[in-house]
Amino acid sequence: MDADVIVVGAGPTGLLLAGDLAEAGVAVTVLERRSEESNLTRAFAVHARTMEHLEMRGLADELATTGTAIRTLRLLDRVQLDLAALPSTFASALVTPQYQTERVLQQRATALGARLVHGAEVTGVTQDEHGVEVAVRPIAGRPIEDTAASYRAAYAVGADGVHSAVRQALGLPFPGRSVIKSLMLADVRLSSPPPDMLSLNSDGDGFAFVAPFGDGWYRVIAWNRLHQVGDTAPVELEEIREVTRRAMGSDLGMHDPRWLSRFHSDERQVPRYRVGRVFLAGDAAHCHSPAGGLGMNTGLQDAANLSWKLAAAVQGWGNERLLDSYHAERHPIGRQVVRTSGAIVRLMMVRPRWGRAVRSAIGQLLLGIPPVAARVAATISGIGIRYPAPRGVDPRVGTRVPDIPLVGSRLYEALRGGRFVLIGADAARIDLPPQVDAAVPARPTGELLLVRPDGYLAWIGTAAGFPAWASEYFHRRGGTTKVVNSATTER
Ligand SMILES: Cc1cc2nc3c(=O)[nH]c(=O)nc-3n(C[C@H](O)[C@H](O)[C@H](O)COP(=O)(O)OP(=O)(O)OC[C@H]3O[C@@H](n4cnc5c(N)ncnc54)[C@H](O)[C@@H]3O)c2cc1C
Repeated sequence: MDADVIVVGAGPTGLLLAGDLAEAGVAVTVLERRSEESNLTRAFAVHARTMEHLEMRGLADELATTGTAIRTLRLLDRVQLDLAALPSTFASALVTPQYQTERVLQQRATALGARLVHGAEVTGVTQDEHGVEVAVRPIAGRPIEDTAASYRAAYAVGADGVHSAVRQALGLPFPGRSVIKSLMLADVRLSSPPPDMLSLNSDGDGFAFVAPFGDGWYRVIAWNRLHQVGDTAPVELEEIREVTRRAMGSDLGMHDPRWLSRFHSDERQVPRYRVGRVFLAGDAAHCHSPAGGLGMNTGLQDAANLSWKLAAAVQGWGNERLLDSYHAERHPIGRQVVRTSGAIVRLMMVRPRWGRAVRSAIGQLLLGIPPVAARVAATISGIGIRYPAPRGVDPRVGTRVPDIPLVGSRLYEALRGGRFVLIGADAARIDLPPQVDAAVPARPTGELLLVRPDGYLAWIGTAAGFPAWASEYFHRRGGTTKVVNSATTER
């Protein structure tokens, strides 16, 4: 075997996954077609739940310094969505270029020992009972660092984007449809920027969206119903200015574009996220329009869900059911994201004046009702994501656990290292190996909580009901389980 796990694609999804696997002590090789680091600014919004996942890896503060935290989304006309009330330390959306997110994830992955092979294009994947064979073609003129024509590992993950070679090698369909064509994208300077928030508006013949990166550059996405052309047609800044003027009443003094491109968006989802020893994650598994800024966020959360399960399988305590739970948990979330993003983009494309008036009135009305606004914010930010509790267990199982203050620490700090964390003043009554010290909540509740490495609740109850599988986990991993018993700090 060349590795325990081969990850195909060093985009955000593949890099987070590789870092987690390496941190868990799993030998991981990432095969990436590009020969150098990415300078993509495609994704720009990092939502609250993703920031929480980054915090569980000690990366949130570093990423936060590269962008601007936006607390209010100004949507169509006078509709506003307030993120400040989200029940999270990160009650905002961070606007930062995708390459910054990739940079921090790549640094972490390589520092933890993941092997990154650039200039290696994966052309095929086959599997047998014992492992996976990944065929590689060096990119012409840019030989890969070693001459391997194929790599073998116990498992492989296709995190190779929307045109995934891994998905094709598995023979899986990617059903769906085209949702919007001829979207124009520009990174520009503005001499009259809108207030510091994400702004979006439409006039029936198009829409314009503006977001500040926080360093003087702005991302603009514009769509012109009256000029629909193919992805390769050139983009003129003047057309983006005109669409922005129509939609927002001003072209905001747009100048000096550093990047102009045209693209289209499809809505698609693969029917299975797992085929035997091969998994799909990120855009390889689902794609949709950029509306809502959900794609990269969803891919990163796929990776956070899969990484500890794969590590468990490699290390011999994760069974087939645990591996299957990746599809069971993440496929419905992917479906929901495709629907949410699709609904937003269709609202943006409403044409008749009366339709836009109704959209605006209903939007203002609904987002003026606090529980509805909270639900929408929780959906967009990912804070509302939860996984179904197995039948017969406490219904809180599968819900997101917030950054609970612990004695001397807090949960998201304790989760660093990718392990389960047991929280409860009563944990001493459980038979745990001596090296394992449970975290003590700053405000004890009388219940014990077992938190999964990805920050969702695995179990809740009293010491007497502590599950056998959890006890086995701590005994197996006891020697290395992190000690998280310390003093109170609340962020
Ligand atoms: C204009 C625009 C704006 C967006 N804005 C947002 C946003 O604000 N927030 C958000 O969450 N999402 C956003 N997205 C979506 C986001 O960019 C993607 O969802 C995200 O990049 C997916 O990450 P990934 O790692 O799954 O795939 P990718 O980023 O596509 O990475 C896949 C990697 O695999 C490599 N690869 C491909 N094929 C092979 C092969 N055969 N062999 C080896 N390597 C291969 C590629 O080179 C690439 O590095 C936006 C998208 C667009 C187009």
